[in-house]
Amino acid sequence: MPDPIPIVRGESTLLFDESGKSYIDAISSWWVNLHGHAHPYIAQKIYEQALRLEQVIFAGFTHQPAVDLAERLIDILPGNFSKIFYSDNGSTATEVAMKMAIQYWWNQEEPARKKIVALSNSYHGDTFGAMSVSERSVFTLAFRDRLFEVLFLDPEGDLPPLNLEEVACFIYEPLVQGAGGMKMYGAEWLNSILKKFRDQKIICIADEVMTGFGRTGKLFASEFMQEKPDIICLSKGLTGGTMALGATACTDRIYQAYLNDDRSKTFFHGHSFTANPLACTAALASLHLLGKRECVDRIEKIISSHKKFAIELQSFSSKKDAGSKERSDKDSGLIKCIRQTGTILAFEISSGRDGWLNNIGSIFTQKSLESGVYLRPLGNTVYMMPPYCIKDAELEKVYGSILAILASLE
Ligand SMILES: *Cc1c(COP(=O)(O)O)cnc(C)c1O
Repeated sequence: MPDPIPIVRGESTLLFDESGKSYIDAISSWWVNLHGHAHPYIAQKIYEQALRLEQVIFAGFTHQPAVDLAERLIDILPGNFSKIFYSDNGSTATEVAMKMAIQYWWNQEEPARKKIVALSNSYHGDTFGAMSVSERSVFTLAFRDRLFEVLFLDPEGDLPPLNLEEVACFIYEPLVQGAGGMKMYGAEWLNSILKKFRDQKIICIADEVMTGFGRTGKLFASEFMQEKPDIICLSKGLTGGTMALGATACTDRIYQAYLNDDRSKTFFHGHSFTANPLACTAALASLHLLGKRECVDRIEKIISSHKKFAIELQSFSSKKDAGSKERSDKDSGLIKCIRQTGTILAFEISSGRDGWLNNIGSIFTQKSLESGVYLRPLGNTVYMMPPYCIKDAELEKVYGSILAILASLE
């Protein structure tokens, strides 16, 4: 591996290294950043909050930023959410969701509800519960024997024979599976599965840690389906990518199962930095920016630019095919599977094997850095997921850099 690059400063979409060289952060620093780095409005709000209250135990105490943020999230989340449970990152947000769903059935004294369903190719985080509901892959190889049993469904596949009355919960990344390689699947299929599961009272958990806050073109990916989840997990873009914060929203049905004088029915889960006031303040500031006309317009602009670039990529891949009569498959060029959901554009490089062990990604990163752009493919999957403040000229520079790298790989 090349040595890590010391970054000393960020401004808008740009990251600056020690020597002053800048890089366009075309993947939003692993999908967290929404409004650009070191945003002055968010920084100011964090500063003011730090002078007022930086942290307080969140058991027996509460504070305004946590209350305001919970109310704001309940307002904007699709579906009928009534409560927000705070934690401090995406993995904990999904752990909380699964514990909430499993204990729901325990509290209801329905022990037969034990099975957990997830999607193949999924990623829900790096803690043990989150690893268990994630695709068994090179990420989790060393822990394979210690992960709990999960039934994996193929996105867009048929439902295998399954007694739905034994299923406790279903966890899924709606429409885009991020770490699994920006795989995209249809809203119609997901809606029909959600309908079947919800008819059987199965608790449906939407992991919107990556898809939340505008990435898919709507505020939340769950807005694309008529059937809404019972639980939604949030993190990453929640604070605009400035502070670590996780939130798990649930409906009143879930909450009521815990509202009991029997202490054994308590949801015993909490982290030291649960609902950190600085993080909640950053989230409120980010949501304020996200609601501005300017930001909504930028998201639309990115979506339409990506659409045009996807066509350009398509012609790039078919141009390659034209030379060889043997190749009839339209995916047989240097690149394949060009796809887009909202502000996320992805494609695969055909050379070498698919997946994480393909080293084309590090070559791609190296070459993009040389041109002042930061891209970090997932194995052989190249994708863009820029902060919304990215300028037209910067988008063009990223596209140009991708085309130049592809040309150099021919
Ligand atoms: C990144 C991610 C997580 C884990 O979040 P961390 O904050 O990195 O723990 C969980 N689910 C999805 C869908 C993610 O993309």
